Amino acid sequence: MKIVVLSGGTGTPKLLQGLKELVDDLTVIVNTAEDIWISGNKICPDIDSVIYALAEIIDDEKWWGVKGDTFKTHEQLKRLGFDEFMMIGDLDRATHIFRSELLRQGYTLTEATKKLKNAFGVKAEVLPMCEEEVATIIVTPQGEMHFQEFWVKHKGKPEVLDIYFKGIENAKATYDVIEALEECDGVIIGPSNPITSIIPILLVRGVKERLKQKKVIAVSPIVGNRPVSGPAGKFMRVKGYDVSPLGVADVYADFLDVLVVDNSDVNLVGNYKGIEVVATDTIMKDKEDAKRLSEFLIELL
Ligand code: GDP
Repeated sequence: MKIVVLSGGTGTPKLLQGLKELVDDLTVIVNTAEDIWISGNKICPDIDSVIYALAEIIDDEKWWGVKGDTFKTHEQLKRLGFDEFMMIGDLDRATHIFRSELLRQGYTLTEATKKLKNAFGVKAEVLPMCEEEVATIIVTPQGEMHFQEFWVKHKGKPEVLDIYFKGIENAKATYDVIEALEECDGVIIGPSNPITSIIPILLVRGVKERLKQKKVIAVSPIVGNRPVSGPAGKFMRVKGYDVSPLGVADVYADFLDVLVVDNSDVNLVGNYKGIEVVATDTIMKDKEDAKRLSEFLIELL
């Protein structure tokens, strides 16, 4: 079975640890709107987390960075008076250098990502959503800031007035993304932040119309009226969506066939605006949970 997964950087990588064991032909299309150049290198937080999760080297307490990484270079840079606002591990930085050198040599991000995931021994295909640079900008009373500044530097605390994706109007689906979407048997949208991880992928020219031709299943990252982790609730509210699994269904209403909610939201099972709502355990504490949820999703497809 050929399956395409749309992914951000926390919830979906957890799920991928299950899917990779069960699907032979797996392609992950990853959000790149949180990418940022720091200390001379391009960081693709969601691509890195997807690759690290698939390679089983992700720090599975924090769900970013490499397990057991050290921060010696980061600490030395700070000591030298260089303000590196993101905590970048030494092993993690090697990934960023690898990628950035390839980009400087003229490789595309798609090519650089393939070389990187192959170097980590990852079998699944990992594709950036587009080649063009897109930046998630958070509008706050203190001014506009990049998503990473909001989330890492300001710890997600500022009031959020609006969110927009700088450069998204130029973003078009790559040949690889189009081919994956056209040839797959179905699409899974993992439990990722609908606003900042999935909407950017949906806004890439060429993606949405192809999703409309396929069976699409989404796992809700919202359980009850709260996200399992991260700022998804705050962002959904700002964009006028209800912070609930059905609010997630509203974000994907144009093309979604099935919404998977947690068993604790079993009261939502049925039909919502033509979308089938089903329930199972969606909280992934370990790989076994991820595998069980993956089996459920494959069965649905
Ligand atoms: P980001 O790039 O770090 O924002 O990561 P994602 O967008 O991939 O993931 C964040 C979303 O994953 C949050 O909205 C969480 O609620 C959701 N999430 C994290 N862990 C789980 C889980 O075990 N189950 C479910 N259903 N959602 C989860």
